[in-house]
Amino acid sequence: MPDSDLRLDLVYNPSGAFLPGDQASMEKDFKKALMEDFGIQFHNLFAITNLPIARFLDYLIASENYEDYMYQLVEAYNPAAVANVMCTNTLSISWDGYLYDCDFNQMLELPVNSKVKHISEYNEDLLEGRNIVISQHCYGCTAGAGSSCQGSVA
Ligand code: SF4
Repeated sequence: MPDSDLRLDLVYNPSGAFLPGDQASMEKDFKKALMEDFGIQFHNLFAITNLPIARFLDYLIASENYEDYMYQLVEAYNPAAVANVMCTNTLSISWDGYLYDCDFNQMLELPVNSKVKHISEYNEDLLEGRNIVISQHCYGCTAGAGSSCQGSVA
């Protein structure tokens, strides 16, 4: 563990059209390798699945991996991950105050499905009762051990 009060967490994204490995095993391997090779210690490693949107979607299409990748995500669907995906406990807010279920939906310009659309109208009861806007990219959050900004969720 690092000596200072500074917290150091690492984020791992797969470098291609595949799902991340087991977060706990990767954390162990990275801790060993970084200590042996560079004398670096860190707290936690968060393994995050690449969602098929934006630049990664462009890459999947250009490399003809889109269908295979979507197939992997759907095949690896894990109902146990659904309860803890980011949109169940976090909102994303754009620079101009509009609300989104998560930063992915924000990137895709899919606003919250609620009467409350802007932070200036914030109403927790109304927002808690909303249906989350989902689409095919959500399979990225529910595949395998699940994925959020804190890594695995299941
Ligand atoms: S991408 Fe879908 S499942 Fe993932 S946090 Fe956003 S709305 Fe929820």
